[in-house]
Amino acid sequence: MLIIITAVLFSAALAVNGEVHNKLTCQLSPADVPKDWITMTDPCVKKMSEQVMAELNAAMVYLAMGAHFNRDNINRPGFSKLFFHSASEEREHAMKLIEYLLMRGELTEDVRALIQNPVPNKSSWADAVTALREALELEASVTRSIRDIIKVCEEPPEEKGVVFNDYHLADYLTGEFLEEQYSGQRVLAGHISTLGKLMDTHGPIGEFLFDKRLLAME
Ligand code: FE
Repeated sequence: MLIIITAVLFSAALAVNGEVHNKLTCQLSPADVPKDWITMTDPCVKKMSEQVMAELNAAMVYLAMGAHFNRDNINRPGFSKLFFHSASEEREHAMKLIEYLLMRGELTEDVRALIQNPVPNKSSWADAVTALREALELEASVTRSIRDIIKVCEEPPEEKGVVFNDYHLADYLTGEFLEEQYSGQRVLAGHISTLGKLMDTHGPIGEFLFDKRLLAME
């Protein structure tokens, strides 16, 4: 008897659930929004999409670095803090690029291809100087790819007899992204310089001292 009552209640719950689901499903056809205000060109959108993936890749590398330096047998909390902070910044850069593309009327299709998590190619570093050097190389490659987007978007191939120079995107990337890239690269270069000198004069204790300094920095 109990089994019958349970089955009836279960069927009723399913029916109600199905009805609620139907009510919550959007019944409207997609809005017919004009498209002639959308002016980004294909090679430019492609470059921007690749940059979203590059920023996410950088975020993953910095996450791996942050985790490495926080291992109990490495225990460099200052370097871990530095790299975890960099990971958050890179994720924010990816979000900014996605927001920019949406503002320009792009990314109306499935965005999953852009936001797949790339796997970093390593998970440990011999010492902090090595990690900082790799971080600087990574930033330099990101800077090159941003410059490349600007070039492609400023001089895209002619489309239907028209060359569309994307001044706004070039200005946005130059002001928002390149500025941060150049100052970030300088910070990393400075860290490599100071840490290198400390290790030359103090050996491994130099890395310990520099880690304490990083921990105290805002
Ligand atoms: Fe970035």
